[in-house]
Amino acid sequence: MGFDLRARLDERRARHRYRHPRVQDGPCGRVARVDGRDYLNFCSNDYLGLAADAEVVAAFRAAADQWGVGSGASHLVCGHQRPHQDLEEALAAHTGRSRALLFSTGYMANLGVITALVGRGDAIFEDRLNHASLLDAGLLSGARFRRFAHNDAGALAGQLARSDAGRKLVAVDGVFSMDGDQAPLAPLLDACEAADAWLMVDDAHGLGVLDGQGRGTAFAQGVNERLPVYMGTLGKGLGTSGAFVAGSEELIETLIQFSRSYIYTTAMPAAVAAATRVSLAKAAAETWRRDRLAALIRRFRHGAAELGYALMASDTPIQPIRVGEDADALALSRALAERGLLVTAIRPPTVPEGQARLRVTLSAAHEEGDVDRLLDALETAKCRN
Ligand code: PMP
Repeated sequence: MGFDLRARLDERRARHRYRHPRVQDGPCGRVARVDGRDYLNFCSNDYLGLAADAEVVAAFRAAADQWGVGSGASHLVCGHQRPHQDLEEALAAHTGRSRALLFSTGYMANLGVITALVGRGDAIFEDRLNHASLLDAGLLSGARFRRFAHNDAGALAGQLARSDAGRKLVAVDGVFSMDGDQAPLAPLLDACEAADAWLMVDDAHGLGVLDGQGRGTAFAQGVNERLPVYMGTLGKGLGTSGAFVAGSEELIETLIQFSRSYIYTTAMPAAVAAATRVSLAKAAAETWRRDRLAALIRRFRHGAAELGYALMASDTPIQPIRVGEDADALALSRALAERGLLVTAIRPPTVPEGQARLRVTLSAAHEEGDVDRLLDALETAKCRN
C-alpha cells in the first residue's frame, strides 16, 4: 500500500476543507495586502495593534543591532542573553508570580508544561474545546486523558472525584480561541482544590486584552493568586512571537529540568524578547487600546445581531459568526473578500462537525468605520443568500 497522498488531498478538497496560506505583502495591521489588493483585516490575533507598532519595531531593530539575529543555541547550552532574562522578569512581575520561563512558541509551552507535570499513573483533564496544542500535549504525556463538557465545572468535579490517578492536572483555555468565551475559573478552581488537582490556564487570547492592565483572564476574574500554572503567548495581544509559563519558583525550576520543548530547542532571538518587553509595557500602560477594543466589540455585536447573524457568548475580540455548513462558511468568507474584507472561515477539525463559522477578530488597530464596512458587507451578503 502506498501513501496515496493525492487521494487524501482530493478528499479534503471535496469536503471544502482544503487550506493554504495567503501571501501578504506587508506587515500585520488593519489592512492586509494580498495579490495587489488591500483588504481590511478581521482575522489576525493582533488584538492591541502592536505587531507593527513603531516603538516595538524600533526596539526590535536596536536589539538586532546589539544582540544579532540568532540566539545561537538552546537556553541551557550557551545560556540565554540578557534580553531573555529581562523579559522573563518583566513577565513574572506582570502576571504577579515569582518566576516566568520563555518558550519559543505557545504550542511548545503547552507540550513542555503538561509533559513535565504529568505522565503514566497521572491524569490530565481538559475542556473539550481546548486548543489543539493542549489536547496534543495531554495525549503525548502518557497520563490518562479525560475531556469534560465545555466550561462545565460540575462535570469536571465528578471526573476528578472518580479518579484514582496520582497527580491530577486540569488544563483549559482562558479565552477559547474559536468561540471567544472565557473559562469560569472560580468554579474550576473550586473543583480542583477539592480534589487536590492543579489548574493550568492557557491565556493566549486573554493576556494583554483582559483586566485593566492587560494582565489576563485570571486577574480579570479575581482568582490570580489561586491559579498554580499560568501560560501566555506573545504572538497575539503582545504582537510579537513566543510564549511563557509563570508560577512558583519550584514550578519554573521543574520546567527547566524536565520540559523537553524548553531544553531541546533554540531560544527565540534576543531581539524578539527585547521587542516584547516594550510591547508588554505598552500593553500594560496604554489603556486606550483596551477601551477602543471594547467600543468596537460593542459596535460589532450590536450591528451583527440587528442583521440577524448568530453570534456567540463572547465579550472578547474573538467574535465568531455561526454558520454551520463548511460550504456556507466559505461562501460567506468569499463574499466578504469580494468587498475587500478578510475574515477566515473556520471549519472542522478546528471546530466540531456542523459548527463551521466565520471567526471575526477585532483589534485596537481598527477604526469604527472599519466595523461599519464589515457590517455593510455582512448585510449585502445576507441579502444575496
Ligand atoms: N494556545 C492557544 C489557545 C492558541 O490559540 C494558540 C495559537 N493559535 C496557541 C496556544 C499556540 O501558540 P503559538 O502560536 O505561539 O504556538
